[in-house]
Amino acid sequence: MSASWHPEGAQVAVLTTQPLGRPFDYRAPEGGCAQGAFVEVPLGPRKVLGVVWGAGRGEVDAARLRSIIRVLDVAPMRAEMRQFLERAAEYTLTPLPAMLRLATRAPGLGDPPSMRKVYRRGSGTPARMTDARRRVIEALEEFGGLSFTLKELAELAGTSSGVVKGLAEHGAIIEEDTPRDAPYPRLDPFLPGARFEGAQAQGAERLRAAVRRETYGTTLLRGVTGSGKTEVYLEAVAQCLERGRQALVLLPEIALTSEFLTRVEARFGARPAEWHSGVTMTERRRCWRMVGAGEAQLVVGARSALFLPYRDLGLIIVDEEHDTSYKQEDGVLYNARDMAVLRASFCGAHVVLASATPSLESWANAEAGKYDRIDLAARFGASVLPRMDTIDMRGEPMPGAQWISPSLAGAVAARLEAGEQTLLFLNRRGYAPVTLCRACGNQVGCDNCDARMVEHRFQKRLVCHQCGESRPVPEACPHCTVEGKMTAVGPGVERLAEEAADKFPGARIEVLSSDLHGSARALKARIEAIAQGEADIVIGTQLVAKGHNFPNLTLVGVIDADLGLQGSDLRAAERTFQLMRQVAGRAGRAEKPGTALLQTFQPEHPVIRSILAGDEEGFWRAEAAERRQAGVPPYGRMAGIVLSGPDMAALFDLGAAMARRSEPLQRIGAQVFGPAPAPIARVRGRHRVRLLVKAEKAAPLQSALALWAAQFRLPPNARLSIDIDPQSF
Ligand code: ADP
Ligand code: ZN
Repeated sequence: MSASWHPEGAQVAVLTTQPLGRPFDYRAPEGGCAQGAFVEVPLGPRKVLGVVWGAGRGEVDAARLRSIIRVLDVAPMRAEMRQFLERAAEYTLTPLPAMLRLATRAPGLGDPPSMRKVYRRGSGTPARMTDARRRVIEALEEFGGLSFTLKELAELAGTSSGVVKGLAEHGAIIEEDTPRDAPYPRLDPFLPGARFEGAQAQGAERLRAAVRRETYGTTLLRGVTGSGKTEVYLEAVAQCLERGRQALVLLPEIALTSEFLTRVEARFGARPAEWHSGVTMTERRRCWRMVGAGEAQLVVGARSALFLPYRDLGLIIVDEEHDTSYKQEDGVLYNARDMAVLRASFCGAHVVLASATPSLESWANAEAGKYDRIDLAARFGASVLPRMDTIDMRGEPMPGAQWISPSLAGAVAARLEAGEQTLLFLNRRGYAPVTLCRACGNQVGCDNCDARMVEHRFQKRLVCHQCGESRPVPEACPHCTVEGKMTAVGPGVERLAEEAADKFPGARIEVLSSDLHGSARALKARIEAIAQGEADIVIGTQLVAKGHNFPNLTLVGVIDADLGLQGSDLRAAERTFQLMRQVAGRAGRAEKPGTALLQTFQPEHPVIRSILAGDEEGFWRAEAAERRQAGVPPYGRMAGIVLSGPDMAALFDLGAAMARRSEPLQRIGAQVFGPAPAPIARVRGRHRVRLLVKAEKAAPLQSALALWAAQFRLPPNARLSIDIDPQSF
């Protein structure tokens, strides 16, 4: 790794909050230490965790080298993982320590594993045999060599823990300590899977073959919702497990996990390991260790599961690969889809990107022959794609403060009559997006952010969706102090529920919105109840677009199909297309055909027309042509540079200086745009100013950006963050 080997030194990448880009030298302990070893080292007055990155460079005088304090009792980080982190740090222009932190997010890493007492059959016999004692011994014999905790064993034998302890004293059973991390139950890849024909059969075989190659490759698995993509990629998982390698399935939304876990259990006979923010600390720690030991065969998780220490990762599935939540927008800015591909390239794994509406990036990679592509054209079995139609809002009589048109209301009434479910989709949380004073025209905004406060009527509060700040809905206008003039303007899902209740008295109405359910568990329970038929009309945000199965749902009404088309975001068309197709896909999952109705003021808009026509290829081609013309991703490269800080003028000054002195960028032919207020110009009291850099696809953008940014000094308390491939541009 390193050019000059220093006899006693080891380079250690240290986990600090300081942006120290590269590893430091330390004195290795007696007998040396392995590359990748987790160590504790002194840093200034503190002790910090680090990873041995290579041999020391000998830059520091041996006498002044500080010593590694101790080597932790965990398996060293694999070379392939270190390479991945280094490359990911380079790609995202993130200091290595910050990248490393993603890979060490296991609570209590390095503590000795905690132990617990378990009991198994011994050779002794108790002097006096009672019924209860016999039952304990029989229970242990029945389960062969297995051991149980006190509680488990007592329960199994239908007796008290006192009886078990008494037996242990006689040596009839043996008490011993084992690590608390219980092993995961084994998944059985040889259990029979679904029976495939046609495109499914071919797709499954192509994926199996790809996994068998045990080299890096990527497949775009494309197919409408319900076409059996999951069923097909589970075959790739089976093949991977058969070969004894580990598999990872990434899901965009925790709320989807439990449905998926149940499916895995049905397919492989046991539940896989889980990794996301909803998992307890103890469980995460177990997962981290078991993944490292190769004991966890399959991990189902959120994007951060990419950074677990797999022993032999052979397959990564990125489900709903187009989903914007794969982009981490805090701290290290990375897109899990891209990182999955990078990770796989270092460990010889295959990647499957699954989606009904792939990102333009993946579509273009498939077009260019970099990815294999499998298309599942039809829905599985009897269910057919929903019929799609627009409702031209220009022709609908709409009284004030109503958003369900007479045409849509008629369709809903017909479903109620037939005992079928309707989904009304509106991508706006809360009651109303704007709260306005009719006396002075003031719109209530957040004090910390450049955002309006959104009324949440169930909580009786105004909430800022940027920073979470909330306050009671004011009686008097905070601006002109006139009372009783505050008015809700525009619809959110809560307000739509009110209108629906008004229009359809007696219908059971359920609102699904991420802020209303407290926990992922509560949300999941509601989703299950709805699937069981416990609601007639479901009113939901983006949350409902993602993969839930409602068999009795036959109508989807999109309240405002134009919502996503506003604004100047170049990805707006792609997003709207994806979202509308996904939402429509909720209708008619089972034997009943579905209908999707889009309320729009511009039915002739090209995006709306391609959504209706269901002409995906045509849409992607047109969109690709525009992006190529504009030289933006995926045909060019972009980076967003966000300067944030308390003093807006200072940020603009710096931004202007950066735009002027951009030689390193000019040298690679890149263009700089801005400075301009960032899409969200103020968050939590900090102003945000953005520059955009655009370069040709082949240009060495990262290194030029690094050189460029290094020339400038930041004003006090300011921060500069670079977002490679920003979501909006
Ligand atoms: P997608 O992931 O594309 O939305 P799924 O894999 O969830 O589609 O399949 C949709 C439904 O059809 C599921 O209930 C699934 O179990 C069923 N299904 C798909 N393929 C088969 C098959 N070959 N045999 C039996 N059932 C299948
Ligand atoms: Zn705010």
